[in-house]
Amino acid sequence: MTLCILDTLSGEKKILRKSKKALKMFVCGPTVYGPAHIGHARVEAVFDSFARYARDSGYQLSYVQNITDVDDKIIDAAREAGITPHALARRYEKEYLLDMKALRIVSPDRRARASDFIEEIIGQIARLMKKGFAYRTSSGVYFEVRKFKPYGALSKQDLDAVRPGWRIEPDSEKKDHLDFALWKNSVALDEVGWPSPWGRGRPGWHIEDTAITEKLLGQQYDIHGGGNDLKFPHHESEIAQQEASSGKSPFVSVWMHVGFLSIGGVKMSKSLHNSIEISEFLEKHSVNAIRLMFMSAHYRSPISYTERLMEQASAAITSIASALARLDLVALRGTPPELAPRKLVSWLVPHENAFKEAMDDDFNTPAALASLFSFISACEARMWQMSRGEAFAARHFLLKRLALFGIIVKASSIPVLIRGLAKKREAFRVSKDFAGADRIRREITIAGYALLDTPLGPLIFPNGV
Ligand SMILES: [Zn+2]
Repeated sequence: MTLCILDTLSGEKKILRKSKKALKMFVCGPTVYGPAHIGHARVEAVFDSFARYARDSGYQLSYVQNITDVDDKIIDAAREAGITPHALARRYEKEYLLDMKALRIVSPDRRARASDFIEEIIGQIARLMKKGFAYRTSSGVYFEVRKFKPYGALSKQDLDAVRPGWRIEPDSEKKDHLDFALWKNSVALDEVGWPSPWGRGRPGWHIEDTAITEKLLGQQYDIHGGGNDLKFPHHESEIAQQEASSGKSPFVSVWMHVGFLSIGGVKMSKSLHNSIEISEFLEKHSVNAIRLMFMSAHYRSPISYTERLMEQASAAITSIASALARLDLVALRGTPPELAPRKLVSWLVPHENAFKEAMDDDFNTPAALASLFSFISACEARMWQMSRGEAFAARHFLLKRLALFGIIVKASSIPVLIRGLAKKREAFRVSKDFAGADRIRREITIAGYALLDTPLGPLIFPNGV
């Protein structure tokens, strides 16, 4: 089986064929006007894991993301903060990159700033003007949506039913309320702007992405991803701009949209004060638990976030760490001799297949995780009968697959103090002072470690890592 992804536009599962050419993927990145929240983190985690899996499966992948550093939201936020839009954008870009590093988002090959592509943006607008898809007003240049027939196909909307109200351009000279800005004139001298054939101004949001992708990935490429909320008008407008300017269709082969993350069913918003910033989330929860929580839902499904989800994820990570610690112990001290490598492989094959089947089927991470947990149960059932080689192979199998989700469980060194406590407890236990032994076990738990009695002696490992 090969990797299949459900394309939002056609509604069909598309096979991603392997070839010598790299698979080209673009994912909409942040508009850097404020701290990123956990909804952004989800989208990033999904595509980071997807890229890790595709590369691990033998695809060459070229992954580009944009950084919107020119936008009205940035201009407004900068005015409020009393600094330049440039300084504000750089501040939040830095913060965003630190958040990504902390979350172990490592897959994008290139993060392209819109401000570095002004020439390409102007070039694309000029082509749209020439081909008659764009027109000028006194406030800037607009894309004439009605001229591009497929507009609305991605978000499955009847254009006549779309009411004005989304990002309205305050310009009465527009031919239709659906028309969106490609270029906005900068009126005040201190306003952000670049010279252009239509006067000093700045790009509209949608054109930034197609100018970047046309330059870096070409006029047509394989996968375009982003949050579900970007489908309309953002992605719809990207299709219109790129297909109208190049005359080539389809713009991308697969559209991959990630479900919305709400807080208990309510949209995150500044006015409701329910937004959870990534940095504050990372203070409370481990990266492993956060990434497991994201992967526990199918990427297209919405997540209604509650604290309970993180509690479950944290408990799941503890049970994974516990299984890995025991496998470690057996691999190190188990008694039966090593098994022949071929026998090792045959034992793992059905688990390997179940994992791959789930991942290849529209990146079904909840099913893939379920297959890993059933693998853990299978290990547990035979834990103390395993040979050292078997335990080693099982541990490797698990670690490798967890790493695809950005989950990294390290065999941690246990502090001397905790090891001392464990020794003391063992002495109590041997002398049958069970109350004393329990008291020390509680001390160990409070210190953040779990203690497990095994046939190979007591085992300590960190809780909820
Ligand atoms: Zn975008």
